[in-house]
Amino acid sequence: MDESPLSQSQPRNTLDGTRPLPQTGDLRRSFALLRRQAERLQRILEISQILTSTYDLEELLQIILAAATELTKTEAASILLLSEGGTELRFAATTGRDREKLMALRVPVENSLAGTILRSGEPMVFDNVQQDPRHFDGVDKKVAFESRSLLGVPLLMRDRPVGVLEALNKTDNTVFSEEDGQVMMTLAAQAAVAIENARLVTALQKAYEQLNRVDQIKSDFIAIASHELRTPLGLILGYAAMLKEDVQNPETTEQLDVVMNSALRLRDLIDDMVNVQHIEEGKAKLVLSEFAVQDVVKQVVQAVSELYTTKEQEMLISLPAQPLQVKADRDKITLVLNNLLTNAIKFTDPRGRIMISAERQNGDMQVHVADTGIGIPAREIERIFDRFYQVEPHLTRQHGGLGLGLAIAKGMVELHGGKIWVESVEGLGSRFSFSVPIGGPKAVP
Ligand code: ADP
Repeated sequence: MDESPLSQSQPRNTLDGTRPLPQTGDLRRSFALLRRQAERLQRILEISQILTSTYDLEELLQIILAAATELTKTEAASILLLSEGGTELRFAATTGRDREKLMALRVPVENSLAGTILRSGEPMVFDNVQQDPRHFDGVDKKVAFESRSLLGVPLLMRDRPVGVLEALNKTDNTVFSEEDGQVMMTLAAQAAVAIENARLVTALQKAYEQLNRVDQIKSDFIAIASHELRTPLGLILGYAAMLKEDVQNPETTEQLDVVMNSALRLRDLIDDMVNVQHIEEGKAKLVLSEFAVQDVVKQVVQAVSELYTTKEQEMLISLPAQPLQVKADRDKITLVLNNLLTNAIKFTDPRGRIMISAERQNGDMQVHVADTGIGIPAREIERIFDRFYQVEPHLTRQHGGLGLGLAIAKGMVELHGGKIWVESVEGLGSRFSFSVPIGGPKAVP
């Protein structure tokens, strides 16, 4: 490649360290060159700014090619990328009229100038393309274009050549300069980043679509399974209740109780699935009423009393002396509290302690359920409110459950315009809290 005109005209230092005074002509040429370089840099900077404003790969590559022809003063420019097999290059973008035709063409890596540049991994200039035995004439033949001179630089991704940026035919019929090479290298680096970004965005989009599909399958499964399970379960519960009334034998009555309790447990699990589905689909609606939170706490503690007394756990309740009135969906708040409390009991060893408290915080009602249980590892905290998420791996699980209780609680609290959170230390215990506005959910503007 030609040496840069700027370096040719640069005055050299003399042996004693002084510089000879430049001649006026030299100075003028140096200034002109400097100004041209400054203009090119300015243009490259402008292009970089445009490039960061869009992720549309085609648009980005066209901007890069337009800059390449403009800055190197050439008739055409193209970007060729290595195909998957690594034996061919295909046009990823090109200037000019015959775009469609070019895009359909394949250029062999073996025996083409683009392939030669790709393999060398270095910028290369071909001043007389037609005379070069490595020239692949399959392109010129297909389109109304004759390549005369060519400057090509490799596109590097993580130091690996993956394609070539080419500028063709100097418009003023001069030869390519070192400056042209530098401009092209800068543009090639930008093209490589744009291509890599586009690849990442496409991969991310694909992964996201796949995730959505899987999520949809999961939602469909929940909807179908809960619907199909409900009917036979209703029958089991109905017949078990009928039989219980008829039988006199205490042993059979006891066995029927086991059947009924198991069926009721199943019904709770199915209800959880339906609840989570409703939240997901935005079908869950609030039925607001005014009530004192103390009443709900007492009701839920009463409902779970068998669970914690069996484990000989201590239940401490700390509530305001005055009724803490709140406008909310009582059933849903009951469900939230029930889920938090049954978890606290489940994940706390026998003879551990559970503490419930409620208070008014500005315009919110805040409820806390603390325990001295197994706690939650810090890295898991973010995920425990996700559907079906359980800290224990399912194959070695010691505690039952579907992993829906907290997702439902979160959905219900958020429906009220509230928040739910947890503080926990692994091995020491957890404190789950939620808050909802006392006056009911704020109207959506
Ligand atoms: P489930 O209790 O059915 O597994 P949840 O959604 O209620 O589902 O809880 C999700 C996970 O969060 C639990 O499996 C458990 O790992 C963790 N977790 C919930 N509450 C507690 C708690 N009080 N102490 C320790 N871990 C808890």
